[in-house]
Amino acid sequence: MSDPKSDPTAAESGKVALVTGGSRGIGRAVVERLAREGHDIGFCYRSDDAAAALTEKEVRALGRRVLSRRVDVTDRTQIRDFVTAAEDELGPVSAAVTSAGITRDSPLVLMADEDWDAVLRTNLDGTYNLCRAIAFPMIKRGGGAVVTLSSVAGVAGNAGQTNYSASKAGIIGFTRSLAKEGGRHGIRANTVAPGFIDTDMTSVLPEKVSKQMLGRIPLGRFGRPEDVASMVAYLVSPEASYITGQVFQVDGGIAL
Ligand code: NAD
Repeated sequence: MSDPKSDPTAAESGKVALVTGGSRGIGRAVVERLAREGHDIGFCYRSDDAAAALTEKEVRALGRRVLSRRVDVTDRTQIRDFVTAAEDELGPVSAAVTSAGITRDSPLVLMADEDWDAVLRTNLDGTYNLCRAIAFPMIKRGGGAVVTLSSVAGVAGNAGQTNYSASKAGIIGFTRSLAKEGGRHGIRANTVAPGFIDTDMTSVLPEKVSKQMLGRIPLGRFGRPEDVASMVAYLVSPEASYITGQVFQVDGGIAL
């Protein structure tokens, strides 16, 4: 049996997870998986009310409580209000997963300043905004688990993605620093860096590019959102109670 003092993420009877970008793709798979693992769920999304309603329904069908909000992760007031509403309705947050993210790909020489800004604001500032809002509540609670979403592009870089890669590399530095700061408060922070996962984000890529990618994946298939969700579920669970500050690539071996 785990000792609550040495493993705060396992201590709670009510597990509450917050997920950004929870209406679709990887975020949605994380919501479903964590609900299955017994978490009540607060999730936010940018615009798709219908997709969010479906996700909510799935969580309720699993017997868990759920709160969803249309929130722009770049807006600090909205994020703070979301965290407050989730804590009021569901209780202290034990896990936070930052999945909201965008791409605006272009070679640097053609990069529009607004594409640079939008990607950094959403991916990096969005990660900071949620983590900033939950940091004190998590310390007060006695600990928790944070999982941020980076990318193999943030580890190795990727031509045509200087903005995205910079944001995702920033997330790794941010998470490692949070792990160092948060450890004495019982907070663990880890990063998952997916490779090519079959979601709306990658469905816009030209077929030629997708084919080239597939040829580089030793496991011979694109990832599924569930492949990423199972790593996230592991990292927020007591099974991972001695793991912090790490980057886990879920990429079918593409980065080898
Ligand atoms: P997706 O496009 O399917 O979903 C993105 C989610 O983020 C949506 O729910 C959207 O509403 C939300 N979002 C975007 N901007 C937002 C904003 N300003 N405020 C609130 N929510 C916002 O993408 P995905 O493939 O599920 O990606 C999820 C995460 O995983 C992203 O951070 C992405 O960078 C990362 N990732 C994805 C892949 C991949 O191959 N799909 C690879 C590596 C990393």
